[in-house]
Amino acid sequence: MQTFKYNLDKGSKKFICPNCHKKTFVRYVENETGNYLPDTYGRCDRESKCNFHNAPPKGKKCFLISFLSFKSISDKAYKATTEDGSIYFIPKSQVLERTGKECFITEWYLKSNDFRYLGNISKYFTPENEPVINTVTTAKVEPEKPSYHSLKLVDRLYNEEPVKDNLKTYLETIFSEVEVFSAMQNYYLTGTNYYWNNATVFWQMDHKERVHAGKIMLYDPLTGKRVKEPYNCINWIHNAIKEPDFNLNQCLFGMHRINDGHNKPIAIVESEKTAVIMSIIVPDVVWLATGSKQNLKVKLIQPLIGRKIILYPDKGEFKDWQKKAELMKGLGYKIEVSDLLETTDNKRGFDLADMYLNK
Ligand SMILES: [Zn+2]
Repeated sequence: MQTFKYNLDKGSKKFICPNCHKKTFVRYVENETGNYLPDTYGRCDRESKCNFHNAPPKGKKCFLISFLSFKSISDKAYKATTEDGSIYFIPKSQVLERTGKECFITEWYLKSNDFRYLGNISKYFTPENEPVINTVTTAKVEPEKPSYHSLKLVDRLYNEEPVKDNLKTYLETIFSEVEVFSAMQNYYLTGTNYYWNNATVFWQMDHKERVHAGKIMLYDPLTGKRVKEPYNCINWIHNAIKEPDFNLNQCLFGMHRINDGHNKPIAIVESEKTAVIMSIIVPDVVWLATGSKQNLKVKLIQPLIGRKIILYPDKGEFKDWQKKAELMKGLGYKIEVSDLLETTDNKRGFDLADMYLNK
């Protein structure tokens, strides 16, 4: 059985000590989420004078799940039907509190049975199944406000200080000048000499024209491949223009284009370059890029609710993206995953642009 893990907060924030009433109380945080446990758990920092310490008991973490129907079928098990119609036989030992069709079920059981529970209300129970912490853990810090770049900055780099970038040079060896120009315009692809000469800026602009970030990458003008030697040439505009307090909050690359065609399906690939190339080859689709394989996140696809979405994971990433797609489907997204690249015998990392350009 899993027990939950917590530690005293390592930050500098102190609360009022329930014992000596001085602002010297360090609270416990849940390791997994960084959220505070309820305010009764903590240790007073005035060790010699007060010494108050109330550690949270060890226990099991449970999540609240609502069912369509929930019946006891023996002294060992419940038969439960979930809201999507699946039927489970749940051992009574894993159901720690029940009110009608809602109950707290151990995380261990939920995890091992592929339930969706993250984000649900949680509660802790002692090994004797007594509820020990009745409140939901509270978020430790307010989510920081995301920073945005101004459209003026984009305009300055794109129009006023034009620099030819190596990716453009490469694309012009494959496509016509008109095609490349229009693709650059569609995505506001910008050349820059920040960090490296003739690097490319991929602006992350969303559907409300907010500029979340500018990712700078260097390409080889002959092969169109990213320069990764002597080191991986990636940096950000907010570093280049020295905004140390910039709170990077990414959006999918190309998100500003979803307003172009309301009926166009959305395709998501990993690499920004591939999205740009595919927009020339298959213009009837809006091409977006996550920028990295980990960056396929529910939070980032929110503007795409209601749209038809197709994911094109790179070779080797199919399973991982499919798992995420299942989660997104459960949340109401119309999303499919293409196994086009997975079924080829190319090497790991092979992507759609490689496939089209190889033809
Ligand atoms: Zn105290």
